Amino acid sequence: MDVSQMSPNEMEQQLQHAVEEHRRFTTDGEVANYIPKLGSANPKTLGITVTMMDGTSFTAGDCDAYFTMQSISKIVSLLLALQDIGPERVFDKVGKEPTGDPFNSIVKLETIKPSRPLNPMINAGAIAVTSMIAGKDNPEKLERLLQLARRLTNDTSVNVNKEVYLSEKSTADRNRALAYFMRENGIIHGDVEDILDLYFRQCAIEVTCSHLAYMGAVLANRGKDPITSEKIVPEDLARIVKTFMVTCGMYNASGAFAIDVGIPAKSGVSGGIMSAVPNRMGIGVIGPALDKHGNSVGGLRLLETLSREWQLSIF
Ligand code: GLN
Repeated sequence: MDVSQMSPNEMEQQLQHAVEEHRRFTTDGEVANYIPKLGSANPKTLGITVTMMDGTSFTAGDCDAYFTMQSISKIVSLLLALQDIGPERVFDKVGKEPTGDPFNSIVKLETIKPSRPLNPMINAGAIAVTSMIAGKDNPEKLERLLQLARRLTNDTSVNVNKEVYLSEKSTADRNRALAYFMRENGIIHGDVEDILDLYFRQCAIEVTCSHLAYMGAVLANRGKDPITSEKIVPEDLARIVKTFMVTCGMYNASGAFAIDVGIPAKSGVSGGIMSAVPNRMGIGVIGPALDKHGNSVGGLRLLETLSREWQLSIF
């Protein structure tokens, strides 16, 4: 089916149909509760927004539901760190390789010599990336992160959800363990609690699937705002993050996702998935019920169907 030939009505109808068809899959998954506040999300929520390269958007389902970015924020922090200190310095401390382990795994930090997180999409790598963001103190660094997030989502009101931030901060022993281990090994420097505080706040940036679709559209549009054509991030950095989205964006299910869906995508444990179909569209989905890898069950099914029907796979 040629998406570019579809009328806005047809497009919206297809999306609505797809959401209703796939909502039943949400019962196959569970809402994350290791961050207690995430446990209160409604597992039946399912919503999608598609933003085209001219900035037009189509939505269906629970597209007004707010949720926190969680791991999707790793894209924002990586883009900022890459702009701040350049790819060479970032990738001196954090690798570029996928991992077969869960996103919060600690095992490879110890077995790889010299110790280095495998990539910026797993928690260890993302915490290290957050520690590289420039700014005189945490409020300034957070403001810079928010500024970029607001430009990527085309919404100046995007902000941190304090409750989710505090909920993660009070329960994040695993991330603390990763961070202290990394400081001992010279991957991060300075005050670990400060670095983690910024990381928890970035993960708690609150959005809807429409924000994610816009962000995907900017990346699909090589770093340029789809409406104004203004450069938000340099093209080569947009290329780097899209490549990470393909190889590591869906954690240790990235290989299967590349085969079944075939588009650069990044998921988060609150159930969001941000996808960028190069030169075609951005897609944001929300579905808080997760599979065993921590990816939205409904969201995955939805993207799989759309990819097949609209021939979105880049492969
Ligand atoms: N804030 C979450 C964590 O660090 C993000 C993880 C995720 O979305 N996979 O555990």
